[in-house]
Amino acid sequence: MKAFQVKAPHDYQVADVEVPEAASKEVLVRVAFAGICGSDMHIIHGDNAFVRFPRITGHEFAGVVEAVGEEVHGVNVGDRVCVDPVISCGKCYPCRIGRPNVCSSLEVIGVHRNGGFEEFVTVPAANVHHLPDHIGLDAAALVEPYTIAANVLDRMQPHPGDRLMILGAGVIGMTILQMALAKGIEEVIVTDVINERLAVAKQLGATHIFNSSEHDVEKEVLALTQGEGVPLIADAACVPALLPQMLRLASPAGRIGLLGFSVQPSDLVQLEVIKKELTLVGSRLNNRKFPEVLELMASGQLDPLALVSHRLPLSDMPSAIDMLDHRPEEARKVLIQISA
Ligand code: MN
Repeated sequence: MKAFQVKAPHDYQVADVEVPEAASKEVLVRVAFAGICGSDMHIIHGDNAFVRFPRITGHEFAGVVEAVGEEVHGVNVGDRVCVDPVISCGKCYPCRIGRPNVCSSLEVIGVHRNGGFEEFVTVPAANVHHLPDHIGLDAAALVEPYTIAANVLDRMQPHPGDRLMILGAGVIGMTILQMALAKGIEEVIVTDVINERLAVAKQLGATHIFNSSEHDVEKEVLALTQGEGVPLIADAACVPALLPQMLRLASPAGRIGLLGFSVQPSDLVQLEVIKKELTLVGSRLNNRKFPEVLELMASGQLDPLALVSHRLPLSDMPSAIDMLDHRPEEARKVLIQISA
């Protein structure tokens, strides 16, 4: 079968590999669609500290169950599924307090073990979620990015009527926007430096958009909020240098959700945090958010296909990577169609 294999940083190809076999508690999934994520790009470029090489990447995918292991119950051949990439031990401190997404021995499908950019992938049966009939396999490949949004919003603990500011109108910014609107947040400010992305944010329901390379965002947002600042700020730009601005833009008692994986330090002025009693939260992957996202998707409150800019075959992975590297403004979510 064909698979997109990263042998080492910058060394990748679509290769012929053996079809894997499902262990007793695993299922074999014939992958229909898999989305390319920024974190796949980090793996390809060698700036993901967690990955082990060689690796078949891809943690956003959906497909049809092809085979099940001997001890699998409740998942059957022919079932349409998407897959939670988080594999946790269930025993360590974070697992014991209900935070399996930061398990001490966390394994992520597509990072620590092979993922969805291949014709068939084996995954633990426990990570499989059944799809409601009217969710397509293309839309289902986007459930995972929405779980990122659900997780960061959960970490930020919105109150009714809270304003939200999202830095970055890429795919994750847009999943946070849609998820926030679905959860009843009414006012969402989105910033980015690419006007095409801001136009998408506006279409999807952002109430205010600002190009931060053309506007003094700090001044505009403080004016918009009568100087109070914004209670909820989600960093989907993942630029550490923006943290001081986030501290200044947060309202007293505000919550800032951080998603970036950068190793660059940020300048953090303690007084800003203390005087406003700000909460800074990290958000990693998702803590059992698949059912919630599937429910919102099934009820039509999310519009995943609006985020898809390209559908390409697996053989086009190298050119898709080239586009995402050199012409990111042309792309939103790139879906790789593997079977279907
Ligand atoms: Mn992702």
